[in-house]
Amino acid sequence: MKILVPIKRVPDPDTKIRLQPDGAGVASDGVKFSLNPFDAIALEEALRLEEKLGEMDLVVVSVGGEETIETLRVGLAMGAKRALLIKTSADLDSLAVAKILAAVYQREQPDFVLMGKQAIDDDSNQVGQMLAALLGIGQATFVSKLELVEQHTQARCARETDAGLETLTVKLPAIITADLRLNEPRYVSLPGIMKAKKKPLEELELAALGVTAVSRTKILKYETPPQRQAGVRVKTVDELVDKLKNEAKAI
Ligand SMILES: Cc1cc2nc3c(=O)[nH]c(=O)nc-3n(C[C@H](O)[C@H](O)[C@H](O)COP(=O)(O)OP(=O)(O)OC[C@H]3O[C@@H](n4cnc5c(N)ncnc54)[C@H](O)[C@@H]3O)c2cc1C
Repeated sequence: MKILVPIKRVPDPDTKIRLQPDGAGVASDGVKFSLNPFDAIALEEALRLEEKLGEMDLVVVSVGGEETIETLRVGLAMGAKRALLIKTSADLDSLAVAKILAAVYQREQPDFVLMGKQAIDDDSNQVGQMLAALLGIGQATFVSKLELVEQHTQARCARETDAGLETLTVKLPAIITADLRLNEPRYVSLPGIMKAKKKPLEELELAALGVTAVSRTKILKYETPPQRQAGVRVKTVDELVDKLKNEAKAI
């Protein structure tokens, strides 16, 4: 069985984000980058399936510049068999990334794609859905429990919805996107890091995939949210009600 796991290099969630002075983007100097947490969850789930069902071809793929190799090595150190870097220095929107991943899917022909439900840098929550639409295959998003059934031809997925927990089956191949509660990813071990150095990492130019990456959307400006006011402690409920009424004018 082959599972394709797209992974993205994002600013580390513990890093304090600073913007470029002109608001054109996030300042990257001195910023620590890491593997997108939802992608780590997706890869962890693929590794658990391999532990349960036997050896698999687990392929991590990333779209980005040379610096992305570091992230792919983390994926290999976690346990992926091989890595694929689709090289580009362009700033890509969700649709452009989905088109590139669709071309990777056609090349690799995996049994299914397991990916994060969103990347924590742009929080778009679109690539998985767009990829399924481009490929014309099924999708199960926000998955918090995954099981392969019917001789591994279908995936039974539990997913959180506004109405509660929904369980559905989706025919494979399909796109499955991981929610936070799917699992807790393993730490990368030192032997894993050593082994990762010898695992295959292929670099491909976009042209070799036969796709051009053109973003249809353009981010005009980034702004930091307004500074939060310091909170106040009140001694009584009456005082709280008074403040809500007369200061916050919330009631
Ligand atoms: C696990 C989980 C986490 C969440 N976290 C957050 C969060 O952090 N922040 C947050 O803000 N929200 C959060 N939500 C809420 C979530 O974003 C809402 O479920 C979402 O906004 C609904 O979007 P939708 O596209 O699924 O809705 P849809 O049901 O598709 O509706 C969206 C809109 O589409 C249009 N539409 C839909 N159906 C029709 C129709 N038949 N005819 C005409 N128009 C239609 C309507 O304009 C409707 O308002 C969360 C929900 C879940 C389940």
